[in-house]
Amino acid sequence: MKLVVLGTLAFDSIQTPFGKAENVLGGSATYFSLAARNFSDVGIIGVVGTDFPAEHLNFLKSRGVDLKGVESSPGKTFRWEGYYEYDMDQAHTLKTELNVLEFFKPKIPEEYEQCDYLFLANTDPEIQLETLEKIKPKYSFCDTMNFWIEHDKEKLTKLLKKVDGVFINEGEARQYCETPNLIQAGRRLLKLGPKKVIIKKGESGALFFSEDEFFAAPAYPLETVKDPTGAGDSFAGGTIGHLAKHGEFTDYWIKKSMICGSVISSYVVEDFGIESYKKLTQKNIEERYETFKKIVAFDHKI
Ligand code: AMP
Repeated sequence: MKLVVLGTLAFDSIQTPFGKAENVLGGSATYFSLAARNFSDVGIIGVVGTDFPAEHLNFLKSRGVDLKGVESSPGKTFRWEGYYEYDMDQAHTLKTELNVLEFFKPKIPEEYEQCDYLFLANTDPEIQLETLEKIKPKYSFCDTMNFWIEHDKEKLTKLLKKVDGVFINEGEARQYCETPNLIQAGRRLLKLGPKKVIIKKGESGALFFSEDEFFAAPAYPLETVKDPTGAGDSFAGGTIGHLAKHGEFTDYWIKKSMICGSVISSYVVEDFGIESYKKLTQKNIEERYETFKKIVAFDHKI
C-alpha cells in the first residue's frame, strides 16, 4: 500500500447558510481517502460502530478505497455536529461524540506497514502516535484541530516532533503556536521538527513552509460554496495522494501536489458532505488544474 490514512469515519450533521444535512457520511479519513484515491491507492485505519450502514462502506469500496484497516466495534460511530455562518472558513462545533473512538486500539493490516506515506488525519493524538510507531512509514504527515489542542496539547506536541510534515488550519495554527501571525506560526511549527508545514486558509488558499521555501497556493475562485466540511481533509488527500503517486518528498513536488489538493477541495465545497465525490471525474480535475496555472501566472519582469 502506497498511502495509508488513520482518521475518523463519522456521521456528520451540518448546517450552513445554504442548507443542512443530517447524519451523513463524513469523517477525516473518509474525505481524505476519497480525495487521495483520484491519484493513488489508499487504505483506511479507523473504527465504526454497529450503527454504520454497509451502504457507506460499499460506497468507499466502490471508489477503490481499501478498508482492511476499518474495524467494526460494538457501540455507536463517532459523530460530529457543526454549523457555519457567512464566514464559511470557520466551523462551529455543536457536538463531538467520540463513541467507539474512545476505546479504539488500531489494528494495522500487514500490508499497511512500512507504507510510503502515512497521513494521521484529525483524531486522538494518542492514537496518531501509536499508529505512527507501529507503521513506520517512509514519510508521515499529521493534521489536528482545536478539540485536540484543548484536550491533549502535550501528546500533540510529542506527535508534531515525530512527523515529517503537518497540515493545520489557520485558526488552529494560531491557537497552537499562541500567535496571531501565520508566518511566525509556520516557522515555529518547523522548529518543532516537521520538515514541511502547510497552513490551510480556507477560501484564501494555503501556505507552505520548509527550510528553503515559502509558497502560497491560491484557492479556486468559486462563486458557490455550499458546505466547507471536509475541505481540509480533501485538500490533504489530494496533496498527499498526488505526492504518493510521484513518490518524491521534495518542495517542488509538494507545491505541485498542493494545487491538486486545492482542485479537489474546490469541488467538495460546492455541495453538501461527500456528494461532489459521486460525480467528480479526472477530466474535472485536469480542467481546474489548468485554470490554476492561469491564476498564478504573471510576468516575471517588474
Ligand atoms: P475538515 O476537513 O477540517 O472540514 O474536517 C471535517 C471532518 O472532520 C468531518 O467530517 C468530521 O466528522 C470530522 N471531525 C470533526 N471533529 C473531529 C474530531 N475532534 N476528531 C476527528 N475528526 C473530527
